[in-house]
Amino acid sequence: MHSFTPDTATLMNSIIGYVTERLQLNPVPLDHGGEPASLNELAPSLINEHGNDPNHVLAQFADVLAPAVISCDSPRFLSFIPAAPTKASLLFDMVVSCSSLSGISWLEAAGAIHAENTVLKFLADRAGMPPQSGGCFVSGGSAGNLSALVTARDTARRRGHQPATRRMIAVSEQSHSSIVNTANILDVDLFKVATGPDDRFTGAAFRAAIERQPGDAPNLFAAVCTGGTTNAGIVDDFAGVADVCQELGLWLHGDCAYGGAALLAPSVQHRFVGIDRVDSFIVDPHKFLFAPFDCAALLYRDPELARLTHTQDASYLDVIHTEDGEWNPTDYAYHLTRRARGLPLWFSLAVHGWGAYRDAIEQVLQLTRDAANRIHLAAHVELVREPELSVVVFRRPGWSDAQYHQWSHRLLEQQVAFVTPSKWHGETVARFAFLHPDTSLELVDEILSSMR
Ligand SMILES: *Cc1c(COP(=O)(O)O)cnc(C)c1O
Repeated sequence: MHSFTPDTATLMNSIIGYVTERLQLNPVPLDHGGEPASLNELAPSLINEHGNDPNHVLAQFADVLAPAVISCDSPRFLSFIPAAPTKASLLFDMVVSCSSLSGISWLEAAGAIHAENTVLKFLADRAGMPPQSGGCFVSGGSAGNLSALVTARDTARRRGHQPATRRMIAVSEQSHSSIVNTANILDVDLFKVATGPDDRFTGAAFRAAIERQPGDAPNLFAAVCTGGTTNAGIVDDFAGVADVCQELGLWLHGDCAYGGAALLAPSVQHRFVGIDRVDSFIVDPHKFLFAPFDCAALLYRDPELARLTHTQDASYLDVIHTEDGEWNPTDYAYHLTRRARGLPLWFSLAVHGWGAYRDAIEQVLQLTRDAANRIHLAAHVELVREPELSVVVFRRPGWSDAQYHQWSHRLLEQQVAFVTPSKWHGETVARFAFLHPDTSLELVDEILSSMR
C-alpha cells in the first residue's frame, strides 16, 4: 500500500481554484522581489516527516511565496526579456503535466512528437530552411546554443578540421553570455569580431577581423549571428556572415532566442535576410512566441549531423533507435529525458492560428516605434540607438549610475513598472524590453515622466 493518499478531490478543488483565479487576473500584479530574512520568517520550511494540510501549503505559496516573485508576465515587466504566455498555452501546459507526457523517443511518445514536429516545421519554414530540416524543443536558448555548437564542433572534427592552435567560434561583442558559456564548456576560444558603429556583426567586420588576425583563420569552425541581441535587439548581417562562412567552410549558427519570433512579422522580416543559410538556429517560444517556460526550438539544416553527435549509446536504449521516419528528439540535443515542452505552443498556435501571433508581435513592434518617438520628442531623454525589434535603449543625460538604480527601485516600489538599467559601451542606460501585447503607451509616458 502506498501512502500518497490525500483526498484528490480536495486537492483538485484547491489547485484548480488557484489556477482559475491566477489565469483571470487582469492585469497580473507586478509584485516584489523578496528578502531572504523576511522569507525565512514568513515562510518557514514545511518539509517534515508527516506532511501538512494541502490548503496550508497552498496558502503559504499564494500568500507569501508567489507575491515574492516579480511577475514577468505583467505588462509592467519591461526588464531583461519579459514573458506573455497565452492562456491557451498555459492551460495546455497543465495537460502536459497531468498526462505525464515524455517526449524522448518515437517508440514511447509518437503522438506528442508528431505534434511538436509540426511546430518545428512551421518555424523552419518561416526561416526558409529546407524541408529536411529538423530538431527538437529544449529547455532554453542556452541549451539550444550548446547543443548546436557541439554539433558544429563534432562535424568539424569528423570532416578533419585541423586547428593551428585551439578551435575558435567567431562571435560579436553583442553575442549572448550563453555563447561564452558554451565556448567554455566546449573548451574552445572565442574569436571576437569588432563591429562597426552600428554594432552589427557583418560580413565586412568578419573579413576585417580575419585580416587583422590571419593566424586564427585555421582555428575557426563556427560563427554565431544573433537575430535580436538581448540587450539592444540588434539583428546581425546573416547574409554577409553566411558568405564568409561559406568561403571558409564554417558552421553558421543563428542565435534567435529572443528575436526569432519576428520572422512572423512582415514589418521587420527584411532584417533577417540570409537566415535561410544557417546550419542551425534557435528561437525561444518562452520569449516572444507567447509560450510558458521553459521552451526553446532548436533546428538544424541537416539533422543527421546532430544525430551523429547527440545519440546516446546504451544497451537499454537500443530499442528506441530504429526505423525510417521515426523521430527521436533525444537524438538532437544533449538531453535524454525531456518533457514534451513544445506542446503548449502547439496547442495555442493551432487554436489561435499564426496570424494572431503575427498581429500580437506587430502590435508590440508598433508600441516600440511609438515609444522611440516619444523619446525623440522628449527633451529630458535621448535614444541611444534606433530600435530594430522591440528593445529600446535610451539615456537620461545627467544621471549617474546611482540615479538610474534609485529610479528603477522607486518604480518597482510604487508598482509602476519593473525597468532595470543596463549598460551600453560602459555607460549606464535605461532599457525597455517590450513583449507583452497589453503594455500600453500610457505606461511608457508615465515611466518617461518619472525621469524628469
Ligand atoms: C535569452 C537568450 C539566450 C538564452 O536563452 P535561455 O532560454 O535564457 O537559456 C540566448 N541568446 C539570446 C540572444 C537570448 O536573448
